[in-house]
Amino acid sequence: MAGRSLAYLTTLSTDQVKGIGPRSTKRLTENGIESVADLLLHVPRRYLDRSQLFDLSDVPLNEEATIGGTVLSVRKRRISRGRTMIDAQITDGTNVITAIWFNPYLRIAEGTEVVLSGKVERFRGRLQIKSPDMARLEADSLLTGRVVPIHPSAGGLSPTKMRASIHNALKRSRPVSEVLPPEMLRRLRLVGRDRAIGDIHFPEAESDVEPARRRLAFDELFRLEIALALRKRLQIDEATGIVHDPSAQIVGRFVDALPYRLTAAQRRTIDEIQGDLASPHPMHRLLQGEVGSGKTVVAVAALLTGIQSHYQGAVMAPTEVLAEQHYFGIRDLLIDAGLGPDQLDPTGGAGTTSLFSTNEGSAVGIKMALLTSNSAEVNFLPSGTVKRAEVLAWIESAEIDLVVGTHALIQEGVAFSRLGIAVVDEQHRFGVYQRVQLREKAEGYDPDLLIMTATPIPRTLAMTLYGDLDVSVLDEMPPGRSPVKTVHKTKHPADLEEVYELVRGETAGGRQAFVVCPLVEDSDVLEAASATAEYDRLQDVFPHLRLGLIHGQLRPADKDGVMHRFRSGEIDVLVATTVIEVGIDIPNATVMVIEDADRFGLSQLHQLRGRVGRGPDQATCVLVAEPSTPEGEERIAAMVATTDGFRLAEEDLRIRGQGTVFGTKQAGAKDLKLADILRDTDLLIEARNDAFALVAADPNLDDHPAIRDEVRAMLGSDVDWLFRS
Ligand code: ADP
Ligand code: MG
Repeated sequence: MAGRSLAYLTTLSTDQVKGIGPRSTKRLTENGIESVADLLLHVPRRYLDRSQLFDLSDVPLNEEATIGGTVLSVRKRRISRGRTMIDAQITDGTNVITAIWFNPYLRIAEGTEVVLSGKVERFRGRLQIKSPDMARLEADSLLTGRVVPIHPSAGGLSPTKMRASIHNALKRSRPVSEVLPPEMLRRLRLVGRDRAIGDIHFPEAESDVEPARRRLAFDELFRLEIALALRKRLQIDEATGIVHDPSAQIVGRFVDALPYRLTAAQRRTIDEIQGDLASPHPMHRLLQGEVGSGKTVVAVAALLTGIQSHYQGAVMAPTEVLAEQHYFGIRDLLIDAGLGPDQLDPTGGAGTTSLFSTNEGSAVGIKMALLTSNSAEVNFLPSGTVKRAEVLAWIESAEIDLVVGTHALIQEGVAFSRLGIAVVDEQHRFGVYQRVQLREKAEGYDPDLLIMTATPIPRTLAMTLYGDLDVSVLDEMPPGRSPVKTVHKTKHPADLEEVYELVRGETAGGRQAFVVCPLVEDSDVLEAASATAEYDRLQDVFPHLRLGLIHGQLRPADKDGVMHRFRSGEIDVLVATTVIEVGIDIPNATVMVIEDADRFGLSQLHQLRGRVGRGPDQATCVLVAEPSTPEGEERIAAMVATTDGFRLAEEDLRIRGQGTVFGTKQAGAKDLKLADILRDTDLLIEARNDAFALVAADPNLDDHPAIRDEVRAMLGSDVDWLFRS
């Protein structure tokens, strides 16, 4: 196909464009515009349609409108706090309007023709428009069409300069070659790429914009889905997994020893996982399950399957507090099942298995270690008696079967000799990058991976972020739980007194409460201080109750001590920061008070609420909030309205937008500029179907080299490993 490919244009520096010098190139690069291709995909933020100009005599007030006229006079003056204000009188012959900007660099001269867009207001009887978007007509010979593009400024280039630069970049680049087969363009009713890139910047009419945007958005989604399809294929075809024996006796033994019966959903999920483990392909499974649905035992069943085949297991949690809970929790479950250290008799006596015999023939069981940045423990020696270096050495020599730690476990220099199964708890954003790191922990094969999350993933996200994972859903709660009741209270003394009464009532009945203190953004120290102050204050409110305090500044051993006392019922009310946000499991706690709840994000609130309602008793979550923003109000309303995590996740995506949902390390994240996965769901599904079909038919993209080059060029180093053949 004729023309220059987008892949080629990613190799052209922006200083190849007329009007862009080395200084601008440097600043553009700093702003993420690294090549001519990036410049061409720097699309207008809006368009001013000159055929839609209003006369000043009948312009609608207080809504978006576009107007045009001649500049009569300009004034520039300093106002308070060193700011500069520019105001200009502009007329179109029917009336006069004052335009105001607070941008000291704005250039506007008497006598020029301008087009402005923004909200027109009436102020002291006169028309006024504040910080409108502006195009200067005479200075700008490009504005011959009816529609004026307004590009976001970047790297010191104003919208006007940007418009001129992109115009030159288009001249340098066009025609841009097509990558999609003609059949696909027809079937999906997509305009050609060259036309799309031209029209998005300089449309003849505003109606040309949407087809252009749709095409370019499709391209973004298609590249991402191609990358996912390739990755999935690599996982299936080329990765070497471990074939575990799913009939592991110790799993049955563990399940039989549990103090409850597994739910049907837990049993089904364990079967799905064991199917993966028995197959020669490495497992890449996402386990979604509402807070409290019982993911931990599912994970332990998976880990035991691997351990029985003499592989090591790793559990990674997002916080130290949760890692510690998992370590002690799993340790005790193993003891109950008779699988603890020295409980298994290698001679086969007492109905045990001989799987864990050592050469010396001494009795051994499953050896566990806890490893966080601050603590190291093993389950076969007294607490506090081992050194970190010893634990690391035992992991490396496979003396230890199961390691529990924070997510840092795979990043730090922890060497495993036989890592079989890795479980990542409570992190649905476990990126591709981390998955690659995990692979590097094992030589010659790929460990099985189970990612667990209580954050339900809307379908659209599941198709992008996790398009290459298998998914299991724990869609059933253990029996006897009733949904947490959620109420909103203000800080009015009468309201607060009701909250305190609730806490007194529940604790009098032997139950326990959490009080979560306000979030202090980006400062653990301030957050700890505010929690400490609240703890002191609540001592006076609850003089007869036993209060505890936990925050991120405590030493790990102290955190551990506090959690231990709360768990064993020696503390009635735990005053906490968000260190207890995820995973903490205290079934006896029935009250969760969240102060200044409007400051937390929805998924955080949902997680915090999930700390209660984990036992048979009715639990209450109190949101103390006087929201100062509409978003804060929306979040509180959503929490009161539903306990359904899935609905909350969709609401969250709606309120926050997709930008914050993708981690920076996600392949393709920075590539989604035009596509909006909520609005473009249909496009996303089409892109996914076509991408997966294409890769199925042409696994190495040998017949589609242009697509292959483009994915590699546009998604950059994030997808390099897909192509190392
Ligand atoms: P999450 O899915 O939030 O990680 P956990 O694994 O921490 O949930 O389990 C929540 C609580 O439910 C724990 O106290 C656990 O012991 C209990 N639990 C798990 N499975 C069952 C079950 N099948 N029946 C009763 N209780 C269960
Ligand atoms: Mg959990």
